[in-house]
Amino acid sequence: MYDYDVLSIGAGSGGCASAMRSADLGKKTGLVEYRKNGTGGTCVSRGCIPTKVLLQSAKVYAEVLGAKEYGIAVTDAKPDMRVIHQKKMMAVNSLKFGLDNMLIKPRGIDRLQGKARLLDAHTVELVNGEETRTVTAENIIIATGSEPAMIPVFHIDKEKIITSDEALNLQEMPEELIIVGAGALGLEFADIFSTFGSKVTIVEMMPHVVPTLKDLEITGAVGKYMEKNGITLKCGSGIQSIQVQENGRVCCELANGEKIEADKALVAIGRSLNTKELNLEAVGVEMTPKGQIVTDDQMRTSIPGIYAVGDITEGPQLSHKAQKQGLIAAEVIAGNDAHMRYDVIPSAVFIHPEIAMVGITADEAEEQGIQVLVGKMRFSSNEKAMAMQKTTGLIKITARKEDHKIIGGHIFGEDASVLIEEVATAIQNGLTLDDVADSIHAHPTLSEIVMETCKNALGKAFHK
Ligand SMILES: Cc1cc2nc3c(=O)[nH]c(=O)nc-3n(C[C@H](O)[C@H](O)[C@H](O)COP(=O)(O)OP(=O)(O)OC[C@H]3O[C@@H](n4cnc5c(N)ncnc54)[C@H](O)[C@@H]3O)c2cc1C
Repeated sequence: MYDYDVLSIGAGSGGCASAMRSADLGKKTGLVEYRKNGTGGTCVSRGCIPTKVLLQSAKVYAEVLGAKEYGIAVTDAKPDMRVIHQKKMMAVNSLKFGLDNMLIKPRGIDRLQGKARLLDAHTVELVNGEETRTVTAENIIIATGSEPAMIPVFHIDKEKIITSDEALNLQEMPEELIIVGAGALGLEFADIFSTFGSKVTIVEMMPHVVPTLKDLEITGAVGKYMEKNGITLKCGSGIQSIQVQENGRVCCELANGEKIEADKALVAIGRSLNTKELNLEAVGVEMTPKGQIVTDDQMRTSIPGIYAVGDITEGPQLSHKAQKQGLIAAEVIAGNDAHMRYDVIPSAVFIHPEIAMVGITADEAEEQGIQVLVGKMRFSSNEKAMAMQKTTGLIKITARKEDHKIIGGHIFGEDASVLIEEVATAIQNGLTLDDVADSIHAHPTLSEIVMETCKNALGKAFHK
């Protein structure tokens, strides 16, 4: 007899989702977390939510500064970083409170405080300060997530050379900031700091921003837009060295010999996986050399009864991926048939305007020998975007030529993170260009651009 039917380790996106679904499926469930007040994990405390609060304040500030364009005179607008950070903490704390008191407690899930380590396939040791105890479970779901990687060559001191954890709490804007990495994190922080007045330089080893986005027309448009807004981009440059000089300034030397100085540098690349201290090798759980836990598409590890979800598994490190995997693990444990699909995970970069993507690009499809139809529209063709004066950007939708099934969508433009969902739903359900093109979309809405792009791929759009 075990203490629990299901024990989820880590109360982040994956752990919370797996525990809630397990409880709903009638399982006696425990949820372990070592951080005090840590419910919600990285996403709620140090990731998705605090960044989005700061991005929203940055967006409002930018809009206020540009209010004249809308016929509104505003004088003397300036950000109050103390209040902005208070708002951030209010959002974080109310989400944690809601998770704990409205979603977890009422489901009868046991909250267990302590650092977990597996002793065998069904026994977990929990260390909480001086106290050590063991609990047993028929099924264990590992959802321990990740932390900023302390890459030694970057000499991260958390003061001058910082990670996203410190960047989220900086109340004084550095005059000059170097950001290492032009992925989602790097671009979002660039948007925040540059809007609030820092002079930002982004250094990216790959030749373009958002290296995971393979459509060069879109990444090119993003890069140009960021530069137009005062952000300096150094793409295609590796970093030779980065350190704090005697005068307290950070000096970053690029591989091409160029030197950049700033008050601070933010390293926005690399997450280290929380799998090292779990004793997984001893228990026999298969891992990759980088410490990622190997699972099948039902989130089973190599050891029966042990499942893994979230950042510590394959696929992008995203909250919604972790949540979906957590739900799948819970369903599979309950005997239901559920499988993870890695080809339909949308992702977004919440700069202004946003970037979003799902599926594959036309080039990637052609590399796989798939003939394609591609629809493309500029936001300037959309009436609602015109009315909102948000005409920057473009959208591309890719479909198989043979049956018109949609296989990819890539967007740079207002509310891209919302628009991408129609494309994701189409891919997930095997919908065609014709299905979306034939669905009536309300007018005037930004969503009409998705319909028009599908029509464009079929040669039926109003705008050619
Ligand atoms: C700055 C930033 C912005 C982001 N923005 C977005 C975004 O906009 N959208 C998006 O989808 N994703 C975003 N992410 C990524 C997202 O936060 C992660 O992908 C997600 O939180 C992963 O969930 P998880 O459950 O795997 O792990 P986590 O959320 O990291 O949770 C793991 C939990 O396990 C606990 N833990 C670790 N080891 C143990 C142990 N041995 N015993 C007990 N507890 C343990 C940790 O304390 C932690 O609370 C962002 C990340 C960062 C850093």
